[in-house]
Amino acid sequence: MSRPRVLVLGGGFGGVGAAKNLKDAEVDVVLVDKHDYHTFQPLLYQLAAVSRRPVVHGQDNATVHQDVVTGIDLAAREVRFEHLAPLTYDFLVLGIGAEVNFFGTDGASEHAFPMYTLADAVRLKEHVLDRWEAADRDPSIIEDGALNVVVVGGGPTGVETAGALAELYRADFARDYRGIGPEQARVILVEAGPELFPMFKPNLREYTKKALEKRTVELMIGVAVESVSPTRVKLKTGEELNAHTLVWGAGLQGNRLVQSLGLELERGNRIGVGPELSVPDHPEVYAVGDVAAITDQKTDQVLPQLGSVALQSGEHAGKTIAQVVANKKTKPFAYRDKGTMAAIGRGAAVVQMLGGRTMKGVKAQAAWGAVHLALLPTNEDRAKAVVDWAGAGFTHQRTGRISVRADEHDTG
Ligand SMILES: Cc1cc2nc3c(=O)[nH]c(=O)nc-3n(C[C@H](O)[C@H](O)[C@H](O)COP(=O)(O)OP(=O)(O)OC[C@H]3O[C@@H](n4cnc5c(N)ncnc54)[C@H](O)[C@@H]3O)c2cc1C
Repeated sequence: MSRPRVLVLGGGFGGVGAAKNLKDAEVDVVLVDKHDYHTFQPLLYQLAAVSRRPVVHGQDNATVHQDVVTGIDLAAREVRFEHLAPLTYDFLVLGIGAEVNFFGTDGASEHAFPMYTLADAVRLKEHVLDRWEAADRDPSIIEDGALNVVVVGGGPTGVETAGALAELYRADFARDYRGIGPEQARVILVEAGPELFPMFKPNLREYTKKALEKRTVELMIGVAVESVSPTRVKLKTGEELNAHTLVWGAGLQGNRLVQSLGLELERGNRIGVGPELSVPDHPEVYAVGDVAAITDQKTDQVLPQLGSVALQSGEHAGKTIAQVVANKKTKPFAYRDKGTMAAIGRGAAVVQMLGGRTMKGVKAQAAWGAVHLALLPTNEDRAKAVVDWAGAGFTHQRTGRISVRADEHDTG
């Protein structure tokens, strides 16, 4: 008799967490992702990704395919792909993540640079380098804002991107392009809300502001972007910034595939799930990670879109399916909060622990590193990351460990 098939869609933190926790279950696991690597988004700025296949090495009941999911039929329990023949399932884990949300900002989908996928990070890097080379050949375009970057969003993605770009500008590029002064290449962070990092305590917010300013990031708080063109960013105040680059770190929504499922979606196009992470009316379907709206049992709040939430929810879905198959009792999902943390730049990070204790600076960066290393799927990946971080620290260079075509069409 054939074993139940668990189809895992998406091999990010959520999907991989689910697949690994089905290792000893009497099931066949099929994991499908459009990439053959897993983007490690917390280190997107260093173009970090890990190969997905070794993650399930030694897991005899699992196979991995690289393909794009094109349709999910919950009633027929069938998934369609770009190339693979359609696959039916007994259990489905949806771990297909999120994609950028431009909130209808005029010109953003055509001209902004989102920061979500590895292809996004590569595209931004190529564009910024192109602008610097162009300015090196023809300095007259500097006045037009060729080197200026506007980063939209005062949350972790925007803050970290602005910090990383400013470090790149003031260290590496200052050495490579000696004739260009810092005032000719501005990094401006624009946040529509009243502050940066609203999820952190005031002392950490103040530290973040100072750390960014120390890195020469200009802050425009309480200011919203109205429209974007290839060389100008128009603000709702009427002001226009000369900038050939606008990085969008201001919002996410669930993968667009979820819109075709016929489910009622929560805020940000996320799938609301029950206490065991299954989808309403479909106990055989689990949604995990960024695509899911998971309510924390302790606080009654929807959990944020974080690596640790994705990993833990994926692991829980995997364990739950194994328990269902073995006719064992299942448990509701309980998130273990290891603290809220964000990186700002080299030697600068903020951490807020559950009990309210806070850390900042180098200590906080070490804590950030420890928690994020634990998210990596294999010991080999962790070892490589430590070597990369050490290398980056000594040489002040950001490493690219995987090559991706910058023109790769990618939405999430
Ligand atoms: C720039 C940035 C920085 C971040 N920094 C941090 C941080 O410091 N700490 C932290 O905890 N979290 C951080 N996060 C958030 C964290 O990365 C996400 O919460 C986490 O990756 C979500 O995991 P996931 O498995 O749900 O989705 P993902 O990791 O996005 O994985 C989804 C997978 O689904 C695949 N997929 C999507 N659509 C299809 C399709 N149609 N067919 C086949 N495959 C598909 C994708 O290729 C991808 O591999 C950051 C996010 C970003 C964007």
